[in-house]
Amino acid sequence: MRIGIIGAGQLGQMLGFAARDLGVECLFLDPGDSPPAAVCGDVIRGRFDDKEALLELASTCDVITYEFENVPVEALHAIEGQVPIYPPPVALRHSQDRLDEKRLFDRLEIPLPGYRAVDTRQDLVDAIASLGLPLVVKTRRLGYDGKGQFVVRDAGQVDSAWDALGGTPLIAEAWVPFDYEVSCIGVRSVEGEIAIYPLARNVHETGILRTSSSPVDAPDLATRAEDYVRRLLEHLDYVGVLALELFVCGAGLLANEIAPRVHNSGHWSIEGSETSQFENHLRAIMNQPLGSTASRGHAGMINLIGEIPDAARSLEAGILHDYGKSPRPGRKLGHITVTAETAAERDTLMDHIAASVTVST
Ligand code: AMP
Repeated sequence: MRIGIIGAGQLGQMLGFAARDLGVECLFLDPGDSPPAAVCGDVIRGRFDDKEALLELASTCDVITYEFENVPVEALHAIEGQVPIYPPPVALRHSQDRLDEKRLFDRLEIPLPGYRAVDTRQDLVDAIASLGLPLVVKTRRLGYDGKGQFVVRDAGQVDSAWDALGGTPLIAEAWVPFDYEVSCIGVRSVEGEIAIYPLARNVHETGILRTSSSPVDAPDLATRAEDYVRRLLEHLDYVGVLALELFVCGAGLLANEIAPRVHNSGHWSIEGSETSQFENHLRAIMNQPLGSTASRGHAGMINLIGEIPDAARSLEAGILHDYGKSPRPGRKLGHITVTAETAAERDTLMDHIAASVTVST
């Protein structure tokens, strides 16, 4: 069995390590010179829409997957039918367009913040009238880690928002005064077996994930989030790992977005679960029985962004995952995972580590 992976970043690397443990070979496609996943498999150098490179991947692999959601769906048409592509490109299409994604949530009766499509300056004025202030204006496509977003706090900012983002299709979303953010990661195999990881609580700063901890002591929220993820997995006839990010607002749970891939908020599962999200993604796309998603204690993850400080290399507790990338402001370079017997111990450990590693942006 050989798995073709489009993208050879850190997610590809962690998939590659999991594949190695399962005795499975990976072949990556990536335009980079020495991408992180090159340490665990051969890399075809090429753009993600390079037809020849995609055909080479398709003709030499048994199944194709991808590690990020900006793979051009049209490029996948060139190899569709030749080799199974999981997760299905339809999921990729929904995740690439925030308006499509919101409509999907609506169709599946998954609660979400109010939203409006914005194509003109007047649409933005109308969105303020119907959704109120503040509101978040986002590009419909190619946004990630909070990029391509503008928070409009008063009506006087319409021109600034329009100058910053206007000219491309946009969406306006009601601002959610959330208590905290969570994500629910689910996995579905070719045969339709589903497994769901315990909820993770996530902290973002400037749109970038900083920490995740799991499980969350909120059984009612976990049950509802699991139900939403099951609806998505089944509706999309999905295969592989899918992450659903949500806002917790009082007793309410509002969907923010989906990621049709292994997800940063599930990295704690490498040490904190009986089966990591990476292994289960591979099992799902190879149609093997899924592994248990039960937790091993209370787990947490701290992202290392911009630099990996020396202190991160000499931790008394916690495991450093260094992706081998060169430092750059705002770049995810690695993460630290911790596991503990209780949530309180885990939180103390995470606070201690977060204080000792200077996490800069
Ligand atoms: P996104 O790229 O949509 O996941 O947004 C990145 C982060 O910005 C989220 O994880 C939230 O912390 C924040 N954010 C996005 N949309 C909203 C919203 N409608 N209300 C409040 N915060 C938001």
